[in-house]
Amino acid sequence: MSEIKTYDVIVLGAGPAGLAAGYAAKQAGADVLIVEREDRAGGILKQCIHDGFGIIRFKQKLTGPEYAERYIKMVNELSIPMLMSTFVLGIQKNNELFELQLVNKKNGVFALRARALVLANGCRERTSKQVFIHGSRPAGIYTAGTAQYFVNIMGMLPCKECVILGSGDIGLIMARRLTLEGSKVLGVYEAKSTPSGLARNIVQCLEDYNIPLYLSHTITRIIGSGRVEAVEISKVDESMKPISGTEQVVKCDGVILSVGLVPENEIAESLDIKLDPNTKGPLVDQNFMTTMEGVFSCGNALHVNDLVDYVSESGELAGLQASRYARNSHNRNLIEIKSNNRDFLYVVPQYIDTSSDNKSAVIYYRSRDVKQNVKVIIRCGYNIVYQNKHSVIRPPEMEKAELDLSNISINQDCKLEIIMTEG
Ligand SMILES: Cc1cc2nc3c(=O)[nH]c(=O)nc-3n(C[C@H](O)[C@H](O)[C@H](O)COP(=O)(O)OP(=O)(O)OC[C@H]3O[C@@H](n4cnc5c(N)ncnc54)[C@H](O)[C@@H]3O)c2cc1C
Repeated sequence: MSEIKTYDVIVLGAGPAGLAAGYAAKQAGADVLIVEREDRAGGILKQCIHDGFGIIRFKQKLTGPEYAERYIKMVNELSIPMLMSTFVLGIQKNNELFELQLVNKKNGVFALRARALVLANGCRERTSKQVFIHGSRPAGIYTAGTAQYFVNIMGMLPCKECVILGSGDIGLIMARRLTLEGSKVLGVYEAKSTPSGLARNIVQCLEDYNIPLYLSHTITRIIGSGRVEAVEISKVDESMKPISGTEQVVKCDGVILSVGLVPENEIAESLDIKLDPNTKGPLVDQNFMTTMEGVFSCGNALHVNDLVDYVSESGELAGLQASRYARNSHNRNLIEIKSNNRDFLYVVPQYIDTSSDNKSAVIYYRSRDVKQNVKVIIRCGYNIVYQNKHSVIRPPEMEKAELDLSNISINQDCKLEIIMTEG
């Protein structure tokens, strides 16, 4: 029997997060392997042929494939091995090592070991099953990502006249893409009273193409037997309940769902890693180490990012810290960062490891609602260690606070707390 190869770091996923993590871990001296279930690296970027990627990182407006290509090149230049078309069947932690069972066409079922793992396996779209809509389930209902795959990768048009449910960024981008390809997009229907997508996408993908956005509206019924024939649209009240008597039928042959993304967390769950009910991704410290020692999380597997630049940033940190852990682990001392669900949709990381050598922390946060003239303050006891005024703060736009922890004495009695104040 051949000996099982042990790597310092194995990265799961070769999207922008995994590529950045692999690159950073290798640069820090680790023996790294990237494992990817698809046959090509690049993750979701492969199908995002619009531009707008890399504005922060490369100061250029790149398309998704162009952005991915830059990182693939960097990974190849460091000769980091990538196992493609390889699926993880299971992971166990034995003593200090992770043992992975994997399967691919070339090797069949095989095992590898790693001192540290980086979960960079992206996120998943919510489907019609997770959104309650009455009526039948005919052909013609797609998630926005699937519709994007049809158009951009397979060169097929999924519908001729459609409605889009939800105003998430992928739906907005697909409204423009379908219009450019000759489909008629009759409207984007959003149950909330404010859009879910970035302001720039509302302007560039809807307003520039005269595609109407109906806020406080939802689909209450799908009509059609073999194929979608129409949808029933209703207005909703403040608690997003349909208002009786406002129903109208819109004829269409397609429904595109853009109703949210959820971190892909099956592997994390199988390892009993604790998840944050707000992000649906793992709870992590400032090094992006999860509640299981040696397992790191980054990119959309950790929380759904709006910009790929932040995804790469998180991958780099997770990769660097995984490499450090693989060679020199230490006992962590985790202190929770206090936040409240009333003002914040979520805050990441959720812990500070006070015994880590890494004395800088980037705190990512999203506001729960659109608010004007607010101040976000981070304090440790009575000391204000960060403050930022926002003339407007919106849930679709992730904010970040950079902290130097070297002068802050955090302990169980003096935790970091993030608060939002008005005025
Ligand atoms: C339609 C759309 C438009 C966007 N537009 C923009 C934009 O204009 N500008 C911008 O900056 N950002 C944009 N983004 C956001 C950005 O592209 C994503 O945030 C980013 O691609 C997420 O990177 P990731 O590596 O975390 O995940 P992904 O790109 O999803 O990569 C995850 C990888 O992990 C692999 N994987 C999953 N599970 C396993 C497993 N068990 N084993 C092995 N491999 C696995 C997957 O196959 C995939 O390759 C857009 C995203 C979408 C979907």
